[in-house]
Amino acid sequence: YNVLLLGSGGREHALAWSLNKSPQLKKLYIAPGNPGTSEVGENVNLSISDFDQIWSFIQEHEIDITVVGPEQPLVDGIANFLEAKLHPVFGPKLQAAMLEGSKEFAKEFMQRHQIPTASYKVFDQEDFDEAVAYIKEQGKYPVVLKADGLAGGKGVFIPETEAEAIKILKDLKTNSPLKEAASRLVIEEFMTGEEASVFAISDGTSYKVIGNAQDHKRIGDGDTGLNTGGMGAYSPAPVVTDEILERVEKEIIEPTISGMKEEGNPYVGFLYCGLMITEYGPKVVEYNCRFGDPECQVILPRLQSDLLEIMVAATQVKLDDVDILFDDEVRCCVVLASGGYPESYEKGKEITGLDNIKDAIVFHAGTKKEDGKIFTNGGRVLNIVGSGKELKDAMDRTYREVKKVNFDRAYYRSDIGAKGLKH
Ligand code: ATP
Repeated sequence: YNVLLLGSGGREHALAWSLNKSPQLKKLYIAPGNPGTSEVGENVNLSISDFDQIWSFIQEHEIDITVVGPEQPLVDGIANFLEAKLHPVFGPKLQAAMLEGSKEFAKEFMQRHQIPTASYKVFDQEDFDEAVAYIKEQGKYPVVLKADGLAGGKGVFIPETEAEAIKILKDLKTNSPLKEAASRLVIEEFMTGEEASVFAISDGTSYKVIGNAQDHKRIGDGDTGLNTGGMGAYSPAPVVTDEILERVEKEIIEPTISGMKEEGNPYVGFLYCGLMITEYGPKVVEYNCRFGDPECQVILPRLQSDLLEIMVAATQVKLDDVDILFDDEVRCCVVLASGGYPESYEKGKEITGLDNIKDAIVFHAGTKKEDGKIFTNGGRVLNIVGSGKELKDAMDRTYREVKKVNFDRAYYRSDIGAKGLKH
């Protein structure tokens, strides 16, 4: 197969690396890719928001399947656009991607199908008084306020008091850069428990679980400070016991896939279930319509099966014919970020020491290559992924390798995996 993969982050490098291992791969193109993906395929300079340009490329290069990494093109309808041209796409259509694209849609869908999640109510930004009245009536803090639309992880607020909640509502309505994403607001109950992610892959009719992981979203050790795209992950997550996984499948994944199909929007692609493991069992925090970043970087190295074969099967509604098998090692991923991230940071710092890494996989994210040298080019720069028989071994190995890489003001968390050691 000739494959076109869209995206340029650490997730896409991991996808490209995994696809490149397939004996069924003829040629892999990544648009726009990064210096890491150029080692396992050919980077092409296409804009992932320019669907016509993508379609011309697909025709010219006889692409057999297009794999979409990030959420934005999916929520913008790239799968609809390419499927209308009878081109196989791995990734959900717009209507199915709404599970991530609109939190209001996701919550109402879960309610229709009795999928466990936090209790909630949706408000129009203009209905300020009603929203405040609802918060007062619930009288439980913290409370969770979410912008309905995509906000790159910045649209969720967890105020501890009524006064704080009212201030956030006011800000959203007036001077916030989130004004548009937050034109509709979901106000929901705060769930207590440990978070974990379970990933499924679906062909619209059947599904298979493709691993679980625990992400570390906050910038600081001990889960403190600002939210980020994700500072590290490990897989598998011991909080997802066999018993929990069984409940996640039965109570969440199965009704999600069958519910989407029943409603006429069969879900094809990766389904990311962000979960809270509460004392009453697993509940959905959020859905995402693509693989997680950095969870993808710890799950795919564990995969023993052929990712390309699985993706092709998903686009042909033949997922039942393939197996999804993992090795029995634990993987840990530490993200190296530019100092200052997730606020402002500088780019263009030379990265040294990459050649010294012998005992871990390096997935590139915000990097660029010039004259044979690698420079920083984003907030999250590199992902270092180590393995071990036990989580502790994987963590030790990963951190040993992380220390070999350097760039000015490099930052990473020093406690990725620590949560898992408690189990
Ligand atoms: P992402 O960047 O992953 O797309 P997002 O903006 O879609 O994030 P959510 O994942 O819904 O937002 O929420 C972000 C974080 O806020 C969650 O990872 C979780 O820690 C916390 N959170 C969200 N909803 C709740 C809830 N109901 N109870 C407790 N914590 C919550």
